[in-house]
Amino acid sequence: MKKYILLIAVLAFLWSCKSNKTLSSAELTSNSKLITSYANTINEADIKKHVFTLASDEFEGRRTGEKGQKMAAEYLANEYKSYGLKGNHLTGDYFQNVPLEALKNKSEHPSENVIGFIEGIEKPEEIVVISSHYDHEGIKNGEIYNGADDNASGTSAVIEIAQAFSEAKKAGYGPKRSLLFINFTGEEKGLLGSAYYVSNSTYPLENITAALNIDMIGRIGKDKPGDTNYLYIIGADRLSSELHLINEDANQKYSKLDLDYTYNAIDDKNRFYYRSDHYNFAKHNIPIIFYFNGVHEDYHKPTDTPDKINIELLTRRARLIFYTAWELANRENRIIVDKADK
Ligand SMILES: [Zn+2]
Repeated sequence: MKKYILLIAVLAFLWSCKSNKTLSSAELTSNSKLITSYANTINEADIKKHVFTLASDEFEGRRTGEKGQKMAAEYLANEYKSYGLKGNHLTGDYFQNVPLEALKNKSEHPSENVIGFIEGIEKPEEIVVISSHYDHEGIKNGEIYNGADDNASGTSAVIEIAQAFSEAKKAGYGPKRSLLFINFTGEEKGLLGSAYYVSNSTYPLENITAALNIDMIGRIGKDKPGDTNYLYIIGADRLSSELHLINEDANQKYSKLDLDYTYNAIDDKNRFYYRSDHYNFAKHNIPIIFYFNGVHEDYHKPTDTPDKINIELLTRRARLIFYTAWELANRENRIIVDKADK
């Protein structure tokens, strides 16, 4: 009898290993209950804590190379560490130092990109990037530019998405591909942190299958008064038709936001496609999506404060990016670049 009990226990153990660790791509990408359970770890309380910390007066507007930016970098690194993420495999910590020369005399001190890494289970060499810039304008004429929407909002989303994937991995649902989370410095100085990254990548650029960049997703733009369900999508179809469809499908299945492609028009006079860090990846033929809420009356003003962030909307927007990233990280085939960028 004891033998049978032991046998049953062994079989049960093996079954639990199987159900936890060997889900196929098809199983991992179709299990909406499982995926939603991790998307929902991205929650308003955590997002609010991150936004209010990063955009606090204590962080002094996070100007590149200054004390407040360094405090923000430490905060982000500590979050990645606490979730159990790996950092920059070249330096062993969570930073990529960006030297003064790369900051083109626009900073008095060197700065750093912040990096967190989750290794893929089946195709670790293939990488999905999820990024935001975390620097802002600092203090000017004695006024702190808190940069709550620009871009404590996107940065909070990136670290929450990192936490969601790390929770999944701990439970045996690690991503098939690797996930690289990067918070760039020097964006407000001219996309300098991301320019440095792509020239000094910690992984071969040709292995980056897609880059999702988040810059301002915590507010309602001036052209969308009262609309609490939209998000601008820019660039998704410029290099890969699949990337556009994956983001659309994730939204239709889960998030049900009103995705607006107005600023994706090739002749858009605002040229937003060229104005945040994703463009440095697109230049290298890496398919990108730029998630954006549009500009508003507090854009690049000291009044871009955390109390004005719509935490509920920001949380839902962050979840869409998680759903899209889940598909990109777990689907059977790497997305195809089938278009030439103009
Ligand atoms: Zn920005």
